[in-house]
Amino acid sequence: MHGVPLLKDLVLVGGGHAHVHVLKSFGMKPMPGVRLTLIGRDIETPYSGMIPGFVAGHYSFDECHIDLARLAAWTGTRLIQAEATGLDRINRQVLLKDRPPVSYDLLSLDVGAAPSLDTIAGAALHATPVKPIAELGRRWLGFVERMKDRRDPLSVAVIGGGAGGVELALAIDHRLRQIASDARIGVTLVTRGEILSGNAPSIRKAMRAILARRSIQVIENASTTEIERGTLVLDDGRRLDADEVFVVTEASAMPWFAATGLPLDDRGFFAVEATLRSTGDEHVFAVGDCATVLDHPRPKAGVFAVRQGPPLADNLRRALLGRKLKPFTPQRRYLSIIGTGDDHALATRGAWSVEGAWVWRWKDHIDRKWMRMYREPPARAMQMNAPAAPPDPALADADARRLLADIGMRCGGCGAKVGASVLVRVLARLGPSPGSGVTLGLDAPDDAAMIEVPAGKALVQSVDFFRTFIDDPFAFGEVAAVHALGDVWAMGARPHSALALAVVPAAAERLMEEDLFQLLAGARRVLDQAGCALIGGHSGEGPEAALGFSVNGLVDPARALRKGGLKIGDKLMITKPLGTGVIFAAAMRGVARGTWIAAALASMRQPSSAAAEELVAVGTHACTDVTGFGLAGHLAEMIRATGRGDEVSVDLDLDALPALAGAAELFAQGFASSLQPENLRARHLIDGIDAAAAHPKLPLLFDPQTAGGLLAAVPADAVDRVNGVVIGEVVARTEGRSFIHLIR
Ligand SMILES: Cc1cc2nc3c(=O)[nH]c(=O)nc-3n(C[C@H](O)[C@H](O)[C@H](O)COP(=O)(O)OP(=O)(O)OC[C@H]3O[C@@H](n4cnc5c(N)ncnc54)[C@H](O)[C@@H]3O)c2cc1C
Repeated sequence: MHGVPLLKDLVLVGGGHAHVHVLKSFGMKPMPGVRLTLIGRDIETPYSGMIPGFVAGHYSFDECHIDLARLAAWTGTRLIQAEATGLDRINRQVLLKDRPPVSYDLLSLDVGAAPSLDTIAGAALHATPVKPIAELGRRWLGFVERMKDRRDPLSVAVIGGGAGGVELALAIDHRLRQIASDARIGVTLVTRGEILSGNAPSIRKAMRAILARRSIQVIENASTTEIERGTLVLDDGRRLDADEVFVVTEASAMPWFAATGLPLDDRGFFAVEATLRSTGDEHVFAVGDCATVLDHPRPKAGVFAVRQGPPLADNLRRALLGRKLKPFTPQRRYLSIIGTGDDHALATRGAWSVEGAWVWRWKDHIDRKWMRMYREPPARAMQMNAPAAPPDPALADADARRLLADIGMRCGGCGAKVGASVLVRVLARLGPSPGSGVTLGLDAPDDAAMIEVPAGKALVQSVDFFRTFIDDPFAFGEVAAVHALGDVWAMGARPHSALALAVVPAAAERLMEEDLFQLLAGARRVLDQAGCALIGGHSGEGPEAALGFSVNGLVDPARALRKGGLKIGDKLMITKPLGTGVIFAAAMRGVARGTWIAAALASMRQPSSAAAEELVAVGTHACTDVTGFGLAGHLAEMIRATGRGDEVSVDLDLDALPALAGAAELFAQGFASSLQPENLRARHLIDGIDAAAAHPKLPLLFDPQTAGGLLAAVPADAVDRVNGVVIGEVVARTEGRSFIHLIR
């Protein structure tokens, strides 16, 4: 048995302020047998306390966002980037947008709140909501760019006079005076009641004085009824000029909360006990803005979500072990510091307040300290991708024993076959595989599949298999299928059928079933789209997930694309950017940015079917898919295959190579795939490599690709009809020239 097998699924939905603490806590002290999964819509989750500082220009985007991919890698958490749309509580599953549900034994929700734009007519069209904050960050960067050369007068309205609205109005005012200094700036704060209505009158007075000093117009006790293009309409009939409108009104519950059937408060937020557990489901916890602690209602503020982190982590551990939960009482009075955008801040606690530059420095210190906990790797090195196994396979650990006893775990050892009943249930969940030309497929009881090859067609076959490099089994299933079908598409063939070889980590039967289902569901999405029937396979247990396919395709032999056949004058085209090898090498070490990983995955999940059809249609002379040998290795194969008597070489334009975001940066930092040194052997086939030694894209030539693009020699007059990038040209190989000649 390898350490402690996986026994229970703890699933966190939303990378909110409390959940980042849970990740850290479980990373520092993993619970043997527990698999921790975070499902998050946004890979970069904002820290609300620093967002006004970001708007004011004091912080960069990175400084006030937590990269969940890195945090997950450091803490051994399985990260699934997806949006939850509901719960199937009977089957204990989280329903997700555009992909199959994910199962849980224990669930925690920290998804924040939704913007409440519906109450103001025209807001959805003409205003920027500050929720989701992740979206605000991106939109603000765009807004700043647009305002940089502004000379015309600019009026901005902020609707909502709570702490968030006041702070945002001050931050916007400060920033706009810096970036659009030639324009006349007017910022107006409009609020239904008084500003900072939950605070003492003395605090409101202090804040009104600050706003007046900064010439920010404040309109209190006025509701905005409508937002038109350039105008705000108030309930007393007033119309205000507003080129830009930001809505910071009270957050509302997300529409899907109600459909979960969980008890809600009167505003639609999840009702929870003082232990943070749902009042109606012992398997569900909820925290932060999305929940209301019925015994201790508090304002919807990030400070409470932050404080709930430690008691939540503790109670999740207790719940997993069947122990009594501990109630948590949040503070009634708390320190609140509102930045005023100009390197000053106002601190309040009850009726007490203090203002000044040092208060801002104090807030800055508190916020940066909090962020460091989640933006920097923990001191203790975490074990990558091994959330369930502590460094010492401590089965003696009492917690693990208790969980094992709970579940009645068996362990078949590596290489054991997945149980027949598991397989039957998974196949039933996947449903029948579409595709034609299959006489005997998965639905037949026979020992092997039987397929028909129509007259005039040839069968092309290929096989691929590899270990997982990401911990989202559905996405891995998609990538593995795209990778395997790449060979068929590169031949100009149509995928026909496939046999799968799937390995899932040894775990409790329910978890293995879930993993196998997710792997095959991802693969099936790609196979189904390609019209490729899944006709059989083999599944087994192993130390880690792995997936491969033997694929069949059909092609008219006369129209099959081959590796050889490059013609002088052809343009060399590639259909996907390069860099998957270096990005996942860095991701394994927890240093790649989450957005780079997400973009690389999106590219790898993209089937090459459309590209292959285009290439066949324009009469492409030669084609291959770029995979493990890297661009240089596969290009060398094409040149070699083109053969004697027709010697060609390729002028390759390094500048033109399409690269995934982050690839060049990671190479510059010294990262590379473990296969890169092997691929570098192709360097002797390249002229001009020494002169190009410092070129940032040179290492891309040797970067191994997973589910890479097609590399094709296209007639020069056809390049406009192919969705790809021209990276070189086929030329005659003259005396003394190598296979590849670098041009820049
Ligand atoms: C401008 C502004 C300034 C503020 N300043 C402060 C302040 O200084 N101090 C303070 O205490 N409060 C502040 N607040 C309030 C604060 O933003 C919220 O109270 C806080 O963000 C709530 O934290 P949370 O953990 O509940 O959720 P959030 O921080 O909103 O995090 C929710 C997470 O869940 C993810 N998510 C959302 N929906 C889904 C889904 N369906 N599936 C999967 N993932 C999902 C999101 O991507 C996000 O990562 C401010 C608010 C605003 C608007």
